[in-house]
Amino acid sequence: MIELQNILAARKRLKGITKVTPLLSSEQLSLICGNELFLKAEHLQKTGSFKIRGATNKVKHAVKAGATYITAASSGNHGQAVAYIGNKLGVPTTIVVPENASLCKINAIKAYNGVIEKCGMTSTERILRAKEIAVQKNGVFIPPYDDDDVISGQGTIALEVLEQLEDVEAIVVPIGGGGLVSGILTAIKESHPKVKVIGVEPELANDTYLSLRSKSRVSIDATKTIADGLRTSQPGEVTFPILQKYLDDLVLVSEEEIRTALYFVLERMKQLIEPSSAVSIAAAMSAKLGFTGKKVVVVISGGNVDLEKLPQLFPKD
Ligand SMILES: *Cc1c(COP(=O)(O)O)cnc(C)c1O
Repeated sequence: MIELQNILAARKRLKGITKVTPLLSSEQLSLICGNELFLKAEHLQKTGSFKIRGATNKVKHAVKAGATYITAASSGNHGQAVAYIGNKLGVPTTIVVPENASLCKINAIKAYNGVIEKCGMTSTERILRAKEIAVQKNGVFIPPYDDDDVISGQGTIALEVLEQLEDVEAIVVPIGGGGLVSGILTAIKESHPKVKVIGVEPELANDTYLSLRSKSRVSIDATKTIADGLRTSQPGEVTFPILQKYLDDLVLVSEEEIRTALYFVLERMKQLIEPSSAVSIAAAMSAKLGFTGKKVVVVISGGNVDLEKLPQLFPKD
């Protein structure tokens, strides 16, 4: 298991590459939530999501160890992050995407000089192919969450939060494979154990909720939640024990609650966030945190949305 030390080391590696994102607030939002709310704005991070933190830490490690090529299997935020950091460090990169990947996502990766390879429709096929290319090219495959270096990079968010809001009492974090929350848990619980860390999943992608309840990693069928960054079917092998050890609570939100949160933040706060980030605000807005009157940071994990599809994400009634 990683330790606070790993996250402090990651922070040094990220310096000069990632941004220290601001904490945003809205009186109206705090009023609705019954807590004083602060939004950790990773949608304003380089590449539009926090994924650049873990990717940078992992790629820098790999390059130092002699890797001359990097690969990843993701058309989403992780793929963009890996392409960005590869380009920045001058390491050639192949990103394996599904046959039906959207043009705007492919273009974002190409803009960072990532080579696109299309392969199959399932993540299993893509991961195999990306690993195969890595082996052929003296490279390293960069996983999206289930990796110590990736988790350590994500944890740097918590170090910033502790400096930006010294008396923070709770942090609310969306959960996909669990890399983001594992890094934050390690940083918080090994330095400020009284600060609560609460995870959030969509009801339609509740694999971590079910796994924690049954004390073993449960796999669910591919889900259709609009929170596309949280569609993983199973918690990670590396991440799950960290969640079991440290997570204070996990709440579930409905698709309609996610839509309402996304719409509120766009209309009132003028911030474009993606559904995977809106889940944490949804949890706070629907009074599911189980407390009031506290200083709460919700992690806004990313803001990458296909603009033509934006209206499809608005509340239905
Ligand atoms: C990847 C991602 C998540 C989930 O992160 P995990 O480390 O897989 O739990 C949440 N939000 C956004 C925007 C993401 O890209």
